[in-house]
Amino acid sequence: MENILDVAIIGGGPAGLSAAINAVARNKSVKILTNKSNYLQKAEMVDNYLGFHNISGKKLMQNFLEHVQSLNIAFEYGKVINIMKYNDIFMINCNGEIIHAKTVILALGVVKNNLLKNEENLIGRGVSYCATCDGSLYKGKNVLVYGNADDIIEEANFLQKLGVNVTLITAKKELHDIHKDINILDGVVTEIVGNHKFEAVVINHEEVKADGLFLLRNSIAFNTIINDLDTYNGYIQVNRNMETNISGLYACGDCTGEPLQISKATGEGLVAAQNAAKYIDSLKEMK
Ligand SMILES: Cc1cc2nc3c(=O)[nH]c(=O)nc-3n(C[C@H](O)[C@H](O)[C@H](O)COP(=O)(O)OP(=O)(O)OC[C@H]3O[C@@H](n4cnc5c(N)ncnc54)[C@H](O)[C@@H]3O)c2cc1C
Repeated sequence: MENILDVAIIGGGPAGLSAAINAVARNKSVKILTNKSNYLQKAEMVDNYLGFHNISGKKLMQNFLEHVQSLNIAFEYGKVINIMKYNDIFMINCNGEIIHAKTVILALGVVKNNLLKNEENLIGRGVSYCATCDGSLYKGKNVLVYGNADDIIEEANFLQKLGVNVTLITAKKELHDIHKDINILDGVVTEIVGNHKFEAVVINHEEVKADGLFLLRNSIAFNTIINDLDTYNGYIQVNRNMETNISGLYACGDCTGEPLQISKATGEGLVAAQNAAKYIDSLKEMK
């Protein structure tokens, strides 16, 4: 098995970055696995983060990143598709690469995915969240690509170049750099059809059939990223130690609930990291 990290942090916003510097302060090996898109960068002006009066979200985020980079903390850019726990070790699928860790801190931000009808039943049965992981299964076959991911065109092109026949379903009007052989279908998917296997999607009350569906979103719903994770009112349920119901798994920041604010996110990142460090030390003592 490759090196096992002490702490894998999913999400590189304020909560994840704060968790990272605090886990390193406790002498733990850390990697941040994250998409590039970030909420805070969109804030024109932040006026309530102590010590940084009238600062743009972009500049504040840059300061946070510089702090993390000064500690040489490793980043891996990509989307975490799912996490499994086996024999006290977490296995994290980040764009098809499996990363192992003793603890995981979820710092995912707000996840707004409303699952499509039938989506949960058909994951792994013709419905996939990851072009890199599952693309080769569909060589020579017809697939639909749908979602709001920033890199959706890149991913659709990747599938087409693999030899998959791609139809991109999108309401976007401007599609730069798209592979010339990709079909475009204008619309919004309202339902997935299939009993034990994916058959079609419903767009504008009509069924469109294919061999597979790639649902490419910027984030993955909490209840599909890891099995049996407790949620409450649409957020990940945690206690004051930022522990979830799964031992070794912590959560912090916007994904644990309101107020959706930077100070709360960075504070929770610290609490999650310190408790993850204690958990790792307790594993050593048990041996
Ligand atoms: C326009 C705007 C203005 C705001 N103004 C203020 C303000 O003035 N003051 C204030 O306190 N707060 C403000 N906020 C809120 C603030 O930005 C958030 O509270 C803060 O960013 C939360 O940090 P976070 O780390 O929890 O989540 P985020 O900043 O959302 O970071 C989550 C990260 O996780 C990544 N991610 C999610 N899922 C996955 C996955 N499956 N795999 C890999 N990566 C993943 C995301 O891409 C993102 O990088 C504002 C927000 C917006 C949008």
